Amino acid sequence: MPRYEYRCKSCGSTFELNRPMAESSAPATCPDGHEDTVKLLSTVAVGGSASAAPQPSGGGGGGGCCGGGCCS
Ligand SMILES: [Zn+2]
Repeated sequence: MPRYEYRCKSCGSTFELNRPMAESSAPATCPDGHEDTVKLLSTVAVGGSASAAPQPSGGGGGGGCCGGGCCS
């Protein structure tokens, strides 16, 4: 079930709710009971990380280690 993040405009706190996608735009109530909340752009974990640049697999540049017979 996707997780959605909301911010309460009354007390300023953010909270997360696990709810079906069909209810993603339904009003969410702050844990403190406030109803004036907005849905934030969700931080749904899709599993990808945009941290490191993609590295070419198996490439060490020209030649590589075994090119010179160093790893016999
Ligand atoms: Zn609140």
